[in-house]
Amino acid sequence: MADMDPHFSAATRRTNLAALATDTIDLLVIGGGITGAGIARDAAMRGIRTALVDAGDFASGASSRSSRLIHGGLRYLEHGQLRLVFEASRERRVLLRIAPHLVRACPFTFPVHRGSRVKRWQISAAVWLYDLLALFRNVHAHRLLSRRGVLQREPLIRDHDLKGGAVYWDAQCDDARLTLANVRSAHQHGAWCASYVRVTALEKAGGRVRGAELEDVLAGTRFMVRSHVVVNATGPWSDRVRRLDDPAAKPLLRPTKGAHIAVPRQRVGNAGAVTLTSPIDGRVMFVLPWGETTIVGTTDTDYDGSPDDVRADGDDITYLLRSANAVFPNARLQRGDVIAAWAGLRPLLGDGPANASAVPREHKIVESASGLITIAGGKLTTYRSMAAQLVNLVARKLRRLDGRRLPARAATDTEPLPGGDVADLEALARELEKEGVPSGAADHLVHTYGGEATAVANLAADDPALAGPLIAGGPWLRAEVVHHARREMALTVGDVLVRRLHLFHAHPTRGVGVARTVAGLLSRELGWDDTAAALAAERYVAEVTRPAP
Ligand code: FAD
Repeated sequence: MADMDPHFSAATRRTNLAALATDTIDLLVIGGGITGAGIARDAAMRGIRTALVDAGDFASGASSRSSRLIHGGLRYLEHGQLRLVFEASRERRVLLRIAPHLVRACPFTFPVHRGSRVKRWQISAAVWLYDLLALFRNVHAHRLLSRRGVLQREPLIRDHDLKGGAVYWDAQCDDARLTLANVRSAHQHGAWCASYVRVTALEKAGGRVRGAELEDVLAGTRFMVRSHVVVNATGPWSDRVRRLDDPAAKPLLRPTKGAHIAVPRQRVGNAGAVTLTSPIDGRVMFVLPWGETTIVGTTDTDYDGSPDDVRADGDDITYLLRSANAVFPNARLQRGDVIAAWAGLRPLLGDGPANASAVPREHKIVESASGLITIAGGKLTTYRSMAAQLVNLVARKLRRLDGRRLPARAATDTEPLPGGDVADLEALARELEKEGVPSGAADHLVHTYGGEATAVANLAADDPALAGPLIAGGPWLRAEVVHHARREMALTVGDVLVRRLHLFHAHPTRGVGVARTVAGLLSRELGWDDTAAALAAERYVAEVTRPAP
């Protein structure tokens, strides 16, 4: 089934939608966040005829708004969620192996100040247990730190009342690109994947869900797809989709909002990743390096609005600034320092305790009376094992339906994700440099595209117009935009600048200055005329310059 077609473009989308309008498939997965993408990959690898649709871009929901940690979850130890930490630690090992370009091991310094909610002995016990649950196979073992040890690692941390701390290992990842890599792998294994395709209704026959009505959001057209099994993997939107099946369905979720801000890294002066307890409410939060920026997050507050409208507001920004300033007092961060602020909804299960931070991060799979399967909850880190569990269920349903054999489990833990089959990223970067790629760009390319960096470099080598930087002095190449259109199904300026390049999160201009250039590069690939290109750029600028409410 795997045709390993590297192309994944607007043309692929057209072909896929045409196929879905005519063929009956085994499995329709609604939602192209990490959960749906992981399911589509696993199912396609098992030979199940699978389609994956998302109402927006892939990863445009929670999966591009996370803290980007592939982590055991140190703070879950507080709530006794040992099984979750054990599973997440195993998944961290798997992801470091199958996507080394997107998931990077990283030490976290955890300082403890006098009066911190979490005491020094608690940190010592937690980091020990953390490594134990990783079967002592974490990237490196933790170390307890004296006061001086903390300051050696992070000289700008508040030294007043500092008692010591610890350093432990976790991993940072590119959440949106990890999602995209799963979607592309699903495509390479034969799944029909399409972004900007919304499920507007479920089709039933004899009281059983047997398909869905799809709306091509870009063309404004609707058509039916017939599918033996339908899976609702829409994260924060899960209850909404469940109500398409049963208008009286009781909510499964109790979503909480999590906001992040990006500020210039030199203002904060953090040397690496720092875990801290907010002096405001004692919540565990993070100060994370991301290129030239530092990401501070996150908040965790109950949210009962529409998932479509979630945004970081003034209170979120104030909370994050105050928390960061308390631990990095020289930073004196103010509202004007915030490069970007964004928020997402954690699709948490509704049967948890009153305190939002203590709501379990476990997932649940439920099947409605008419056969709609919903998977809700979970974490970015554990998506792969969630997917395997769900596809086991789908395979059993398909066997009951037509007597087919149960497929063997998919090797999602050993087959590298696209770009992940590269032994030495640094060596590849040096090779690209020898071929003329500037050194900053070479490093950026290998850590973004892994083994596929050569495909981007080739585009630049073949066309001098694509070889230049997207932003003067930055590592991003114009060729990347073309790569996004041809191999990563980028269909809008935001698809490129927010989720594929992260310029929205990581550049002081939020990519506003290059929106027109990106639109121009996309128009050659997508057949836009000048008016359409100008409109696409304007739409992006309007979206990212809206003031916080
Ligand atoms: P989503 O990514 O939201 O995907 C659902 C998709 O469904 C969306 O793309 C949406 O467009 C689509 N959709 C909705 N309705 C329809 C429809 N009718 N038709 C078609 N498509 C539809 N986890 C970690 O492991 N590590 C972390 O560091 C971490 N940090 C987090 C920080 C924050 C602030 C948040 C919010 C979450 C964090 N998480 C973290 C959790 C993790 O991000 C989520 O559990 C995960 O991304 C959820 O993925 P999902 O695919 O279920 O949902």
